[in-house]
Amino acid sequence: MTMLEHHIDEVVTLLAGARRVAVLTGAGISAESGVPTFRGQDGLWKHYRAESLATPEAFERDPALVWEWYEWRRGLIASVEPNAGHRVLAGWEDAFEEFAVITQNVDGLHDKAGSRTVVELHGNIWKLRCTREGTVEEIRETPLPHLPPICPSCGALRRPHVVWFGEALDPAVLGRAAEISRAGQVMVVLGTSGLVHPAASLPYAAARAGAKIVEVNVEPTPLTPQADHFLPGKAGEILPALDRRLREARAA
Ligand SMILES: [Zn+2]
Repeated sequence: MTMLEHHIDEVVTLLAGARRVAVLTGAGISAESGVPTFRGQDGLWKHYRAESLATPEAFERDPALVWEWYEWRRGLIASVEPNAGHRVLAGWEDAFEEFAVITQNVDGLHDKAGSRTVVELHGNIWKLRCTREGTVEEIRETPLPHLPPICPSCGALRRPHVVWFGEALDPAVLGRAAEISRAGQVMVVLGTSGLVHPAASLPYAAARAGAKIVEVNVEPTPLTPQADHFLPGKAGEILPALDRRLREARAA
């Protein structure tokens, strides 16, 4: 038995005995589906840095430019499909008494895969928010008929419902994520760099509350030394393997 198989065995035992499971996902699981990172891109936007467009200052200065960039991103993401990892997580919703996905991703791929309990820490690129009233609406149509989009009820600009550089996370969303993290008996951390706070602190909160931490990543992160199990590899490969073994363990 390889080291990886040994760890997978132990994680399956953990999961088979758990009633409350939380999952934290980051850019890695989206990248496996082909969602671009939108940094260091070629082409149309090569002279812009994400950090110079995804900010409240950029939007104030030139909302049309920021919206054009978001439309380009929405257009690219529209054609992307969830991968096997997303699909396993959608299925796990019915495999545990309590199950939730907390994600740093804004692409909506967990939704698209069928997950119902998803906490989107950084918002969702398919949602628009009125800058005056704060009302949020999901509009999957791309390109949008008018740029920049205007709120139909009050006429103010609408912005992408995402958290920009320099902005704080919605405290209610973060509070819910922290609550889910602390309640879980196991937290599976997938494809995160372990560097983006406050998301990166959630596994530590979970561990302090007694959860076992399972990390799945192509390479080690700052979290790895603290994780109870590190499974090196892609979410789209490791999760289906875990899922298959979990079903076998439960059938036995
Ligand atoms: Zn409005």
